[in-house]
Amino acid sequence: MTSSFSNLSLAEPLARAVADMGYETMTPIQEQAIPVVLQGKDVMGAAQTGTGKTAAFTLPLLQRMMKHENASTSPARHPVRALVLLPTRELAVQVAEQVKLYAKYTNLNCAVVFGGMDMKPQTLELKKGVEVLVATPGRLLDHIEAKNTVLNQVEYVVLDEADRMLDIGFLPDLQRILSYLPKQRITLLFSATFSPEIKRLASSFLQDPVTIEVARSNATASTVEQHFYSVGADDKRRALHQILKTRGMKQAFVFVNSKLGCAKLARSLEREGLKTTALHGDKSQDERLKALEAFKSGEVDLLVCTDVAARGLDIKDVPAVFNFDVPFNAEDYIHRIGRTGRAGASGLAVSFVASSDQRLVTDIEKLIKTKIEIEPLEFEEDTPRISVQGRINDGRRMYREGEEGRAPEHRSPREHTERRERREYTPHRQPAVSRDPFFDRPYEPGVAAESLPSWEASSKANAARNGVSANIKPKKKVAALFKAFS
Ligand code: AMP
Repeated sequence: MTSSFSNLSLAEPLARAVADMGYETMTPIQEQAIPVVLQGKDVMGAAQTGTGKTAAFTLPLLQRMMKHENASTSPARHPVRALVLLPTRELAVQVAEQVKLYAKYTNLNCAVVFGGMDMKPQTLELKKGVEVLVATPGRLLDHIEAKNTVLNQVEYVVLDEADRMLDIGFLPDLQRILSYLPKQRITLLFSATFSPEIKRLASSFLQDPVTIEVARSNATASTVEQHFYSVGADDKRRALHQILKTRGMKQAFVFVNSKLGCAKLARSLEREGLKTTALHGDKSQDERLKALEAFKSGEVDLLVCTDVAARGLDIKDVPAVFNFDVPFNAEDYIHRIGRTGRAGASGLAVSFVASSDQRLVTDIEKLIKTKIEIEPLEFEEDTPRISVQGRINDGRRMYREGEEGRAPEHRSPREHTERRERREYTPHRQPAVSRDPFFDRPYEPGVAAESLPSWEASSKANAARNGVSANIKPKKKVAALFKAFS
């Protein structure tokens, strides 16, 4: 079997798009899946993210759809023929971007729909007619119910990251969507693992699927250097700073187990001078896309994220992944470290292990079938000791009470500039030199009371009684507001 794209006999517009991407040889999943899909068989594929599976299903589907390709502007000539379902908005956007790249020299259109955004622009796109529709299940059902799209000509369905869709609880939505589709179709299911639930899903919706497994679901890329360091909770940020510095790392993913922890850590790291952004499920769609873009463009160096938000994201060349928290679910360890060491590049995966994490490490050991050695981490003298309160632990205060950020000697030039800019607008700042001698006179009690402005003086007695100015209206009682609606 040859692994060159040129031997696939792809239609010229598709071959040209692949050449533009710079790919010459197929990845293992592409080598195995493309011929099977071209023959029109159902596929059940187990492949790690980053293996090239998007092209593995997109290219043969586009190739099969080329017979319908037409330049008509009539929406009726561009019905949905392929439906790609994914668990998260980020993945949907990412897959749609790739489909558009592969289809760019054809007249096959692609649209993406996902929740958390206004439906109107998506509706306009759908009404123009699209052959490939990439969607998250909930939003697709909204569009089906609003009759914005008709799926009776769908010939191909891809259930991508199927295990995660089941984890999130999309099974009822998937069942409903699949019930709207023609029975005669080709279905492709991709999942990181073939759990009993996935096998059940496959047995109800796939027909005689060809099983393709390019890497064991519990395999970790051999190009990733893995370390587990014993680090107490209070020392984790310090450890992160040190490893980034000693390894000369520019960008990294930092995984945490909770949304709250994610936001908090991102804020702390930003304060400590690291260009950081957070990606978690509580962020709006717009914020999530912006965070991702900022990381991709190199505007930020650290992407602090939770598992659901980061699953399957294709960001090239992430040199390092930090497990700030050891994942609760051992399989997430494989997904997390799969962000680095992609396509043969070398990567670093560092996990900070607190004393209470031993059981989680044992679970990972069992899954990857490798003995994990937990190493001590020696802190270097010049790595600032950062505690949860934001103090350097040798007694020096890191920053003044009530003031955010690091001690001046640890601030980055950007932080210095930002602070300067902030100070420009701080109304309570002390001028370095007071030009008016009034400000140099000692405080004289009573002066302030005597010099009350006229509008306050008239209600002085009242003010004294309540402790607030009589000119400040009391807040409306909540009960009174409720009464207004009763
Ligand atoms: P995926 O697993 O589909 O998310 O793909 C992971 C990354 O591999 C994407 O950035 C693709 O652009 C890239 N890729 C896909 N196919 C190939 C190939 N044959 N050679 C090199 N890179 C590829």
